Amino acid sequence: MREDVPNLVDGSERPPAGGDWLEKVAPADGRPLYRFARSGDEDVANAVAAARRAQPAWAAETPVARGDLVREIALTLRERRDELSELVAAETGKSMALARGETEAAIEMGLFVAGEGRRLYGRTTTASMPHRSVMAVRQPVGVAGLLMSFNTPLPNIAWKAFPAVLCGNAAVVKPSEEVPASALAFARIAHECGLPAGVLNVVQGLGHEAGAALVAHPDVDLVSFTGSAETGRAVNEVAARRLAKVCLELGGKNALVVCDDADLDGAVRWALASAFSNAGQRCAAASRLVVFDAVYDDFRERLLAGATALEPEPVISEASLERLLEALERAQGEGAAIAAGGTRVGDRGWFLAPTVVEGAARDAWLSCTELFGPVTALYRVRDLHEAIEVVNDSPYGLTAAIHTASVHRAMRFSEEARAGVVVVNGGTHGSEPHMGFGGVKGSGTGWREAGTEALDVYTDWKYVNLVTDPART
Ligand code: NAD
Repeated sequence: MREDVPNLVDGSERPPAGGDWLEKVAPADGRPLYRFARSGDEDVANAVAAARRAQPAWAAETPVARGDLVREIALTLRERRDELSELVAAETGKSMALARGETEAAIEMGLFVAGEGRRLYGRTTTASMPHRSVMAVRQPVGVAGLLMSFNTPLPNIAWKAFPAVLCGNAAVVKPSEEVPASALAFARIAHECGLPAGVLNVVQGLGHEAGAALVAHPDVDLVSFTGSAETGRAVNEVAARRLAKVCLELGGKNALVVCDDADLDGAVRWALASAFSNAGQRCAAASRLVVFDAVYDDFRERLLAGATALEPEPVISEASLERLLEALERAQGEGAAIAAGGTRVGDRGWFLAPTVVEGAARDAWLSCTELFGPVTALYRVRDLHEAIEVVNDSPYGLTAAIHTASVHRAMRFSEEARAGVVVVNGGTHGSEPHMGFGGVKGSGTGWREAGTEALDVYTDWKYVNLVTDPART
């Protein structure tokens, strides 16, 4: 077993106050990897206090200096990308190719955010009274509680920690209990690069223990959460009671539409990648494939052949595999059929064969519930009108894609699909570092992460009203 994974509070690595540790096993083969801290109220309180102490001096640094440090962290992540990717691959069970791609994405986010140190633009505006100068400037929110999902460990922390510290906040990170070592590695590198003690703290542990304590802590000014809608709702209820700023980035039940004029090879390729990459554990995964009647049988045949030929990837835990198998039982009980996959693969690690479900009603439980695994469902529609109805008939609205040769259909879809991201002739996927990402309806509360939009999460606007000639006012 490797070394234990502790907390990192006020610049130093600490065991949990209660002395309890949890075991992490490898999703690929179930072997024990390491122990990690099971933190509670006291650990969270210590981390929040450290962040509170560190924040004013950090905010007093210039944004340029903070940006320089963010760049240094990103460049060090790049130097150490092989070692980091290996850690991610071990914790999540994903391939090295995927892990490397994600590490690059985290680095790119750092480089993009670093540049904001030399922008962080505000605005100047007019006033109704003469001899006044009015400007809007960004100020840090204060102490940020950052909570996140397990699925892409380094980008998930990079998307929050980089803009949080660039904007002059101090942060307490509660990583997913499925990937504690990646978060510690990120924070260690940040400190090695010179990030002052207390600016970025990591408290490991379970969601309903360390996570809940962080969300409830009265000294946390901003809660930025990425995870499931169910947890997000609970987080929002607690944080709203004390009127904290809350940014929620939640799940999806993303649809990919295949029209009768689509390039079917391209549509199948993108559908397979969108539904099954990272074992379907992507908020943007295509879990609904909405196909025109005229090409349904052809598309279905190619999709099933492709899904059956895919090498299965493990899901994150045994509990997740059991949950997925139960969900498939339930879907079948409600009239759906398994067209491909549907079974566990092997008896070591947590593998579900890439699964295609057919015949689920549009409003069936399966059609409205995010499974977060390698499961997608086929829906047959007459035309674009019905396709858009199916796409929008969902509690979620994160991403949507359409495959068509018609610019008119593409435009109509991008106008009418209720989603935060629309892709034409590609997969359902997230954004690049310079593009805001987030969804509508149950996929979030209207904030966008990444892009300059992220600055709105991690700063508050202040309007400065300056009388420039007191003698004449
Ligand atoms: P989850 O909701 O189970 O957990 C997310 C985080 O919340 C974890 O760190 C967990 O420990 C913590 N948590 C759990 N209960 C808590 C509580 N009561 N109080 C405070 N924190 C608590 O989600 P998951 O299984 O880790 O991730 C999968 C979900 O994340 C999916 O719904 C997926 O769509 C979503 N996701 C969304 C985005 C996005 O940008 N919109 C990106 C990635 C993942």
